[in-house]
Amino acid sequence: MLNVYADFCEQVLAIPVIRGKKTDKEKFAGAEATYTIEALMHDGKALQSGTSHNFGDGFAKAFGIQYTDKDNTLKYVHQTYWGMTTRLIGAVIMVHGDDSGLVLPPLVAPVQVMIVPVRQKAEGVLEKAFEIKDQLSQFRVKVDDSDKSPGWKFSECEMRGIPLRIEIGPKDIEEGKCVLVRRDTREKIECPLDQMETMIAELLEKIQKDMLEHARNHREQHTYTAQTMEEFENIFAEKTGFVKAMWCGDRACEDAIKEKLSVSSRCMPFEQEHITDTCICCGKPAVKMVYWGKAY
Ligand SMILES: [Zn+2]
Repeated sequence: MLNVYADFCEQVLAIPVIRGKKTDKEKFAGAEATYTIEALMHDGKALQSGTSHNFGDGFAKAFGIQYTDKDNTLKYVHQTYWGMTTRLIGAVIMVHGDDSGLVLPPLVAPVQVMIVPVRQKAEGVLEKAFEIKDQLSQFRVKVDDSDKSPGWKFSECEMRGIPLRIEIGPKDIEEGKCVLVRRDTREKIECPLDQMETMIAELLEKIQKDMLEHARNHREQHTYTAQTMEEFENIFAEKTGFVKAMWCGDRACEDAIKEKLSVSSRCMPFEQEHITDTCICCGKPAVKMVYWGKAY
């Protein structure tokens, strides 16, 4: 299930995640094991983005949940519990948003393309805008034909995170083109009116990929490696993000780190790396490489 969540985050929400196991301190109380995907928000804080728990038969024993097995004896069920919640909406806002507002990945944007007519009172402009809307019926498209000024409409599109907007005025119509503006990069692209379907399909796909890439680069740039406690403390004093460091497996070290730096172990990634032989905190032999961070 964790991989289903991870694929959804990466392929649909354009949020890169780290897959791993929680330490005993951070796991679901009473579970045998908790698996997690962890994402880094724009401000460098970590967000647990989906979890999958193995309950074993502990809860079944506590609540008397039994079944009759084929050998006709009563046995306790083994349970799992997994969840990905509305907090992912927050993650989309916090990973991709900027000072102008939302930036939504095309696959989940309620409106993928907004057509903004320029000088919409001029003859034929609104008609053309609605004609384009019909032409683009394979996408989620709207025309903003309100009385607000074009500048207002452009800002509103940005604030709402609409992946692409189309600007079209009398001069464009004369020249048989329009202007496409990407929300993520704000790049302006001229588009011949007879090539709109293909260009927009390609662009939406590109925006989706670029947003994941952009978020991945941001995470890479805010992921650090610490070999000593001094380094570890200095990084968290000056920066925000993930820090990779070795750990001995002892709860006391996790507690000490949390107490001192308000930093928690985010996960022991499935893809382990070797940084040093010893625990960052106590110097005893290390058993796992852990991602540490400040959590929401
Ligand atoms: Zn230790």
